[in-house]
Amino acid sequence: MIVKHSRGSYEIKATTIADALASLPAGSFVVTDTRVQAHYGHLVSNSISQKAVPEGEQSKSLSQCAELLDWLASEGADRHSTVVALGGGVVGDLAGFVGAIYMRGVRTIQIPTTLLAQVDSSVGGKVGVDLPSGKNLAGSFWPPSEVRLAIDSLQTLDERQFKNGMGEVWKYGLIMDKNLFDELFKVPLAPQDKRLTSVINRCIELKAQVVAEDEFETTGRRAILNFGHTVGHAIEHVTGYGSVLHGEAIAAGMIIESLLGENLGITTQGTTGQIRHAFAELNLPEPSMYSRDVDSLVSAMRRDKKAQGGSLAFSLLTEVGQCKLIKGVAESDVRKALEAL
Ligand code: NAD
Repeated sequence: MIVKHSRGSYEIKATTIADALASLPAGSFVVTDTRVQAHYGHLVSNSISQKAVPEGEQSKSLSQCAELLDWLASEGADRHSTVVALGGGVVGDLAGFVGAIYMRGVRTIQIPTTLLAQVDSSVGGKVGVDLPSGKNLAGSFWPPSEVRLAIDSLQTLDERQFKNGMGEVWKYGLIMDKNLFDELFKVPLAPQDKRLTSVINRCIELKAQVVAEDEFETTGRRAILNFGHTVGHAIEHVTGYGSVLHGEAIAAGMIIESLLGENLGITTQGTTGQIRHAFAELNLPEPSMYSRDVDSLVSAMRRDKKAQGGSLAFSLLTEVGQCKLIKGVAESDVRKALEAL
């Protein structure tokens, strides 16, 4: 599949993890995390430098970014080098950002190894790190030169991480593809499911379509990918980035934002019940587990990138399969939805 962007295009190539790593260009520098390195680091040629950051969201930080930039410089990386992101969304966002700013930008190759990274974060060019005051607050648009899609790497992913990725898969059904939602609703997707490849490809296709329509998130179209994320990012922030995984937080966020949409008369009545029923397969804690500290959640939402001049904005469903950006949502309505769960 080819993804077009303002500076050109890149290919998403189906491969195996062994082939993806055996054929890296000379002058590659592999960034990974400790867990992924333990599984796949040995497949990288000894002639290619690799560096592993600690696993988990805490590594998506400016300090880790600075360490990686220093590492590239000390290893002699130049403007013709390639930064390879081997791992989940954390490594993808972090290494992608390092690639975007090292010597004002070098080639990057994304090799996503979580379901979440394959269906979402490796495509679209958004890269960055978290700041102490909020999620993804420093970053850039830096499309990869190539994405190597090795679905066989998901075989080593544990069940919680697979379900975490399913949060984003459900999102595509909810915002853009009712058929996908209905199909998953009938039979939830399992790691060994023969539909895995076609579902991943469908999600990538949907993401590529939205990104091509609104690369720099200026028209509101790309913002639909943020359904569940205003609340979800706030949950991640309030719970300290780690105990609640990204996909889990946005799944809870989708339930809460759907209820908000219903209360505002934007989302078809009954949608929240349908979503809760669908998400039973994710084994998530009840959204009320996350939504108790309403003051802190609302204050974190004010730092969301969709917020403007202190007013809150949400991507809300109109019905299953349709979503739009709604600006100027009153704080009292947001509190009401949080407190109802
Ligand atoms: P992650 O990168 O932390 O990976 C989750 C865990 O799985 C880690 O412990 C990792 O070591 C392990 N892992 C990765 N691949 C594995 C494999 N094949 N086998 C065994 N273990 C493996 O988390 P994630 O859920 O992939 O990504 C979450 C991040 O992605 C968040 O920071 C989120 O903000 C970001 N994100 C970015 C975008 C974007 O457009 N840039 C979109 C969605 C999410």
